[in-house]
Amino acid sequence: MEIRLGKILAVSAPSGTGKTTIIKQILQDFPDLVFSISATTRSKRREETNGKDYFFLTEAEFIEKINNEEFVEWERFYDYYYGTYKSFLEENIQQGKSVLLEIDVYGALNVKRIYPGAKLIFIYPPSYDELVNRLMNRKTESEEDFKKRIERAKMELSLKDKFDYLVENKDLEKAILETKSIINNIIKEKD
Ligand code: 5GP
Repeated sequence: MEIRLGKILAVSAPSGTGKTTIIKQILQDFPDLVFSISATTRSKRREETNGKDYFFLTEAEFIEKINNEEFVEWERFYDYYYGTYKSFLEENIQQGKSVLLEIDVYGALNVKRIYPGAKLIFIYPPSYDELVNRLMNRKTESEEDFKKRIERAKMELSLKDKFDYLVENKDLEKAILETKSIINNIIKEKD
């Protein structure tokens, strides 16, 4: 019997692009899609839950996992580590379940190197200024983190053409519909 592997979908976007809102909606509308819960060493935000949004680890715990090769990919940025668990991803795709990764642009490009069949979606803001405004209004970061995030956003935007699908988030509802339609097509696609 032919076993069909699950698909890997990575969604990337600069901070403050509305990515988390879009992903929450996608996960509600695609109940079979499994969200890959990353590990991170940054502190938990008030609205986040450990083991649901991220696994919040100490730096020592994270480094131990790097040394044990537990991550498919990992990045260190804004002074924090972020990583995708290898066993979680593998177990799900082997069972034919598609997995959604919410990771940064470098992480997404690394995943594609390891899994060439992975599909990469990039969500981008209508303009750089708009992104700066959104991040400023969000007020979840310290002044220093905020500066680092807007600097990084410039670099991330410059890599958007390396992605398979691009979605502009000018109007949130439209961006959700567009992303849903892309995901629907990817899931239905034969390998
Ligand atoms: P935040 O701190 O806002 O939750 O996430 C910061 C950045 O880290 C976002 O671009 C997010 O997509 C990315 N990120 C989250 N998990 C991972 C991961 O496992 N690997 C990589 N490379 N980036 C991640």
